[in-house]
This record gives sequence, structure tokens and C-alpha cells, in this order.
Amino acid sequence: MQATEQAVRQIVQEVLTQLSSNGTSGNSTARSNGVSGNWGVFNDVDQAVAAAQQGFEQLSEAPMADRAKAIDIVKTMCDEQAEELGRLELEETKIGRLDHKIAKLHVIKSVPGIESLTTEAVSGDRGLTVTEHAPFGVIGAITPVTHSLPTLAANFVNMVAAGNTLVVNPHPSGANIASEGVRRFNKAIYDATGLQNLVTIIGTPTIESAQAIFDHRGIRLLVVTGGPGVARAALGSPKRAIVAGPGNPPVVVDATADIDNAARSIIAGAAFDNNLLCIGEKEIFAVNEIFDQLMASVGSNGGFRLNAQQVAQFTAKAFGPPKEAGGHHVLNRDFVGKDPAWLASQIGVSVPANTQILFGETDENNPFVPEEQMMPFIPFVRATCTDHAIDLAKKYEHGFGHTAIIHSKDVRTITKMGRIMNTTVFVKNGPSMAGLGLGGEGFPSFSIATPTGEGVTSPMTFTRQRRCAMIEDLRII
Ligand code: NAD
Repeated sequence: MQATEQAVRQIVQEVLTQLSSNGTSGNSTARSNGVSGNWGVFNDVDQAVAAAQQGFEQLSEAPMADRAKAIDIVKTMCDEQAEELGRLELEETKIGRLDHKIAKLHVIKSVPGIESLTTEAVSGDRGLTVTEHAPFGVIGAITPVTHSLPTLAANFVNMVAAGNTLVVNPHPSGANIASEGVRRFNKAIYDATGLQNLVTIIGTPTIESAQAIFDHRGIRLLVVTGGPGVARAALGSPKRAIVAGPGNPPVVVDATADIDNAARSIIAGAAFDNNLLCIGEKEIFAVNEIFDQLMASVGSNGGFRLNAQQVAQFTAKAFGPPKEAGGHHVLNRDFVGKDPAWLASQIGVSVPANTQILFGETDENNPFVPEEQMMPFIPFVRATCTDHAIDLAKKYEHGFGHTAIIHSKDVRTITKMGRIMNTTVFVKNGPSMAGLGLGGEGFPSFSIATPTGEGVTSPMTFTRQRRCAMIEDLRII
């Protein structure tokens, strides 16, 4: 009896705390398991971190089989509910394409899980030394609007496989779908394993909440996926940060390339989710010899070519002038991730149904070349020779070290460009997504750590090495 009273008192206390807590009070009906917050959704960073810390402690005590089950739940949900969740993401963010929003959720099932964690052992006369890969604890994750739920889900799989839990500050324009995912994941994981709050999220995120996560003593590691501003902020933080920063992937096409394959690949990569992907083809440098043939092939494989006057009109709508002399042209955010037909209609042009991208010839000074446009208009620049094309690619990748693509059958040219570009992802003779295992070998991730060098992230990225040495004993050979 006394025990029951105590349990009731504890629950009442938790409800009162909940009601008085910042922002979560309206959601108390959705909590059903004594877990504070709404299945992991909080408006207060301290509470979100505290809940993820409890989740981490619980996960640390749980068998590996429960970790595997939690990951399997997230993968299965993303796969089976891809259509509904993809639609919700598109409705909220209003950028990208439904078919590709759905495809990006199906991809989560290919993100590696606990099977990718390794243990290394060395044995000899002096005994046995084992190196294991341990978790950090609670990770602070900042996610982009371009793939709100896919980034969160892939981060979950990678980080939880390694034994961590995570607190997510999503982009404000994709916060509802990210929170919906967190609620669904946490509830299903709790029902299946009893584990709670393996992921928590700030339901109404702001730059201030992101900064509070950066500064929080309970956060052991930051993982930031986003553009230049947030990448800079993370690199300036005293905490260790894994930064998946911006890209501006150039494509080189030389005279030896299979031109139709190059055209189809450029279209497939640049059209994917209306060119929101950081690895997506953003500008093309093609040698003069094959330039016109390439343009014709792009036109007959789903591209709609704008003439010089239309390119000038469109550029003036898509970019404002730089704020200061020599500065960046200001991207019109209303154009980001929009369909080609809508973009063309902004300059009074109507395009055939099923147009995948808009494209046109520009010089290197057109803002579409230096800027990361994140929309399906692709500038094609004439290069005098292959070296010229590679030089331009190097210049306009801006040293991000993110992604570059080449279409060529000359292995020396491919090798040369690979060395010069020094990018994290380098794709030859295929669409950019092939670098993430979509049509190429290898595994996917939505966080490609570029300035900090971890590359395409996987569970091992989120581990600390721990060495355990036994002297003399345990060597059995
Ligand atoms: P964004 O930089 O506007 O926002 C990303 C996240 O950072 C959001 O959650 C946002 O709220 C937060 N944020 C922005 N400025 C901040 C600051 N000063 N302090 C703290 N938080 C801040 O980017 P976006 O439009 O959401 O996403 C597109 C960008 O992300 C592109 O540049 C793209 O290349 C990049 N990206 C990179 C990868 C990768 O794996 N390298 C993956 C996806 C997107």
C-alpha cells in the first residue's frame, strides 16, 4: 500500500514538473510511461539533455540485442512509413520532391548498424590487448532542413549503434516532422525494449537553443550538418565537433567521356530532390570538343535548356546582388528546392511535363557557378581543355573538400582530378548519389563530415577507442 502511494506521489510530482516546465505542458496527455517530455520532444535544452543522459545510462546497462532492436525499429519505420513521413516532410518544408523524400527514408535501412562495430586484438608473449570502441555519451546533433527526418534517422542509427544517445536541434522549418519521427521512434522502442529517450529533440528550435546545446556540459560531442554559418559556429566551439558542412560539387566532362551517360548522370544527380543534396551536381565544366553534344544530350534526356536571355532573366530572379562589393550574391530562398516547372514559370516559360532540370550555358562569373544554389537549374561552362575544366572545378569547389564528379574514360585524367580536388567524395562516371551507395558500392549517410575529416559517417565515427591490456595471461596459442 505504502509502495503504491509512493509511486502515485512520484507520478503526480512528475506531472506537476511537466506542467510547469517550459512549453511541454500542453502535451501531458501524450506521456504515458513516466518519461518526462512528449516521447522525447522538449522545449527546454536542460530537460532534453537530462532525458537523453538517462536514456544513455539505460542503454549502457541494456544488452546489445536491445540496441539492435531499437535500430531495427527506426529502420523499419522509415521504410514502412516512408510515404506518409515523406509527404509530411514535404508539406512542412515545401522544398524538394515527394518521390525523393520517400526514397531518402527507404535508404535508412542501408545505414550500417551494430554489425559494423569492430574490436581489435593483439596477442603475444606479453599477453593480450584488446581495443574496443565505446560510446561518447550524449551527442548534440544539429540537422538541416534539406533532409530533416532522414538526417535525424541516419544519425540515430549511427550514434545509437555505437551506444550513444542524442539531443537534436532541428532546422526550425523541418522541426515538426523531425519531432513526429522522434515521438514514433521512442514510443515503439519503449514498447519493444523499455528503453526511453534514446533520442530527444527541441520541438521549437532556435539559434539560441542550438547555442545552448553547443555550450551544455552534458553534451560530450557535437555533430553538425548544415551550411557555412553553423559549420563555422561548430568549428569555433571548444567542444569536439564533427562537422558535415556545405558543398558546391563541380562536374568535369572531358572529350573521352560517354556523353549520354554523362548527361543522364548529371540529370539524375541534379534532379534528385530538386538538387537539395549537398553532394548534388551544382555546376558543369565541359571541354569545348564535346560541349554542344553534351548540351544536346541533356536536352533529350529530361533537361530543358534556357537560352542566354532566359538564363539572364532567371539568374536575376534567383539571386540578389551582393551585399558588399566582391561579396556573395544573395540566394533567393523562395527558389530553393522548387520544381523545374515552377522555376521556369517565374520567367514566363512553360516546360514539358516530366522536365527534370533546367540548364543553360553560362560563363564562370554567373552566380550559379560559385554559389550553392540548391535548385534544379544547372549552369554549363565551356572549358578550353581538360586542365582548364579541372582548374575551374578546383576554384569553384571553394576548398570545401566535399564532393567532385568526373566523366572520363582516361584513367590519368581521373587520377589527376582526384588528387587536385582532394574531396571527401569523388565520383567517376555516375551520378553523385553513387558516392553514397545509391547506384555505387558503399553505405549511405546524410552527414558527410568534410572540414573535420571523418568522411561519410558510420557507427565507428561516434566511438572512443578504449584499450584493455592483460599482461601474460589470456593468450591461448
Ligand atoms: P542551414 O545552415 O541554414 O541550417 C542547418 C542547421 O543549423 C539548422 O538546424 C539551423 O537551424 C542551424 N543553424 C544555422 N545557423 C546556425 C548558427 N549560427 N548557430 C547554430 N545553429 C545554426 O542549412 P540548411 O539550409 O538547413 O541545409 C543546407 C546546407 O547544409 C547546405 O549548405 C548543404 O550543403 C549542407 N548540408 C551538408 C551535409 C553534409 O553531409 N556535409 C548534409 C546536408 C546538408
